[in-house]
Amino acid sequence: MARKIFYENAYDSTCTAKVVAVEGNAVILDQTVFYGESGGQPGDTGTLNGVKVLGAKVRDDGEILHIVEDASTFAAGNDVSGLLDWERRLRIMRIHTALHLVGGVAETVAGKCQYAGSGMKDSGEGHLDIMAEKRIVGELVQQLEAKCNEVIRKGAEVKSWFDELKKDYRLVQIDSLAPIPCGGTHVRNISQIGAIKLRRENVGKGKDRIIVTLSS
Ligand SMILES: [Zn+2]
Repeated sequence: MARKIFYENAYDSTCTAKVVAVEGNAVILDQTVFYGESGGQPGDTGTLNGVKVLGAKVRDDGEILHIVEDASTFAAGNDVSGLLDWERRLRIMRIHTALHLVGGVAETVAGKCQYAGSGMKDSGEGHLDIMAEKRIVGELVQQLEAKCNEVIRKGAEVKSWFDELKKDYRLVQIDSLAPIPCGGTHVRNISQIGAIKLRRENVGKGKDRIIVTLSS
């Protein structure tokens, strides 16, 4: 199984690695900075030895597949150097962390929340479906936005760790908010998210969809 460098340092944008196998247009490496699409977070793009990586996926067994434009120059045993499209990855980390923050802060504004789904795009937009004690509509959306931006301005550390007892169970925690299970990549400090904008969409069934966008 490839060593997942992004869990050791989500800010590493380059790596050297050995090709373990090539399957069709998928290259498997012994270690990688490329996050494979999972948990709602898009897979990374970039290059391997200058060849375009169109995306990264996770195989059923957890192995990361680097989907390259042209696999003809890769063979098992080759040394490769990988380079992420860092601007895109950082934008994904910012919106991903913002979704956790909005979810956490929502509890302070709308009471006990249940989260019914989320998603994010590499454009810097994401959504969170929330069923809260109070419906998150009208004024409350503005309140939530203002509170999130206040917390972002102040800044707070984002910690993540693997649970010692459960296999592959990773938790992420922003400041003193409750830790939540997540296998994605996040910014180190919420100040790096920058200002966010919120709007609400009605998706029925007692859920409020909060659409989050990065301001820059
Ligand atoms: Zn996360």
